Amino acid sequence: MKDSPYNFGPTLRLEADAVGPPGQRTFRLLAANQEGAACLWLEKEELQALGVAIDQLLARLSNRSEWKLYGAPPNPFCPSEGFPAIPLVEFKVGQLSLGYESDSRTFVLLVHDSDADPEGPPTFTCATSVIQMRQLGQQIPAVIAAGRPRCPLCGDALEPEGHSCVRAN
Ligand SMILES: [Zn+2]
Repeated sequence: MKDSPYNFGPTLRLEADAVGPPGQRTFRLLAANQEGAACLWLEKEELQALGVAIDQLLARLSNRSEWKLYGAPPNPFCPSEGFPAIPLVEFKVGQLSLGYESDSRTFVLLVHDSDADPEGPPTFTCATSVIQMRQLGQQIPAVIAAGRPRCPLCGDALEPEGHSCVRAN
């Protein structure tokens, strides 16, 4: 399994999710294609880094003319329920990178298992549309913020370093 790269092809869904009680949450990416689902476990920091990478890539692409074809706002993302309970592939992410193929106008996610050789072929790859990637880029900060205590005045997530409230002055 470890040496056979899993090419998932175009995904129908690609979502971020958190499992467990606040403070002990574990994070994952869920991908689904026609045949089933993939469950990729990752650290909060890794998920956060992916969110930043998505934002940066989308910002860079927004200057391209081809981007205008995809100007419509994304649909609201689906809750992560509804994924098959037993994924076809499941592992802990070691390395994750994101690319864009301008010919097919798709994003490509390349993921290495934490046990796999980072120099070797990725353990899992999948392709997503620009819209899906925009949705994931919006979903990641929401998923990460969801476990934090909220300010009772403004509803923003409270940061460990303090909170300057827009509602309290
Ligand atoms: Zn506040």
